[in-house]
Amino acid sequence: MGPILPGSTIGFLGGGQLGRMTAFAARAMGYDVHVLDPDPTAPARAAATRFIEAPFDDADAIVRLAEGCAVLMPEIETISADGMARAVAHAPVRPGAHVLHLIQDRARQKEWLAAQGFPLTPFRVVRDDDDCERATTTLVGRCFVKTTRGGYDGRGQVRTDAPSGIRAAWESLGKRPAVVEQGVDIAMELSVMVARTPSGTVATYPPAANHHVDGILAWSVIPGVDDAALAARARELASSIAEAIAVEGLLCAEMFLSTGGDLLVNELAPRPHNSYHESIEGCATSQFEQAVRAICDLPLGSTDSSQPAAIANLLGELWAKGTAPDFAPVLESPKTRLHLYGKRSARAGRKMGHVATVAGTPASAVQRAVAARNTLARAAGVPEWIIGPS
Ligand code: ADP
Ligand code: MG
Repeated sequence: MGPILPGSTIGFLGGGQLGRMTAFAARAMGYDVHVLDPDPTAPARAAATRFIEAPFDDADAIVRLAEGCAVLMPEIETISADGMARAVAHAPVRPGAHVLHLIQDRARQKEWLAAQGFPLTPFRVVRDDDDCERATTTLVGRCFVKTTRGGYDGRGQVRTDAPSGIRAAWESLGKRPAVVEQGVDIAMELSVMVARTPSGTVATYPPAANHHVDGILAWSVIPGVDDAALAARARELASSIAEAIAVEGLLCAEMFLSTGGDLLVNELAPRPHNSYHESIEGCATSQFEQAVRAICDLPLGSTDSSQPAAIANLLGELWAKGTAPDFAPVLESPKTRLHLYGKRSARAGRKMGHVATVAGTPASAVQRAVAARNTLARAAGVPEWIIGPS
């Protein structure tokens, strides 16, 4: 099968902001876009010429989407496996069902990474009381208890100061299947985006440095790592994971650099990632255009950083009383750009958009992005973010 050329139709399984920004990139390249999502106000609908309103476990609807498309791209990890299996009779699904199967369950993902020899913090899979007891007696220090399914933006996870707190933490998560991880003393959090085509071409991006507030990504910058040897190690690690999974499309590896200098894999995402939104402003090819190139088996674009670029997320709490902020002051800095996802309702922690900035250095790009976000925070009466170590 050759490349899927502009003029063809790409179908998105999921219409959130990642689908929206990828769909805009696809439209810019001359593709048509169809979207399936249960929410009729889904952000990606704005870029679609056809919208199928259906839940992600509706296999018949997924087949209907596939019938009108040359390729499907899952935008979230919870798409029906049966639907994807049936869809491939009509159009390839990229990344494929095997990648989603591996990644959608945190325990399966971690066990696979460990079996492949990729570096991880010590962890235990907890499915019953005995597993829980074993985790309590074999892990040390701070621990993170994370449900195997459905967690994102720090949801579905509880932190404890010592292993003695694991049981209560697991119970508070309803004793659902979980992964318990030993806390890492983090020097920095980084991520590496990899694109891989069905033909096997691979391109990795310069690492992004990421800062979280309350378990949610707050800001991110590319290039995020100035130590060339560390950046090369991180890129090598991410690309070997992408090769081992044989991903067709994008794969983002979130990593921790420990204070001891170890590079550990935190988690994988088989899709565009929040930490690479600044690739629009800062890289020769944005992650969104690269996703389109990869799933269509076109030549990949250059991943070079063209200028330091940062984003700061705009979360729902900035929409005081549900009203959109006055964005004009943010745009007073001519190197600050605004991206909004078109979400109708705001709630605390919900990703509504981001600001992106470029500057002469990564540190000043972060400064500018966070300052722009803080302008909105002051207006909404919510805490400002303070730039410091991660
Ligand atoms: P999510 O799916 O919500 O992104 P993550 O597993 O990436 O879940 O955890 C969110 C954040 O919590 C991480 O980016 C990191 O800041 C912190 N965190 C998670 N696990 C650990 C750990 N084992 N040690 C230290 N910090 C952690
Ligand atoms: Mg994460």
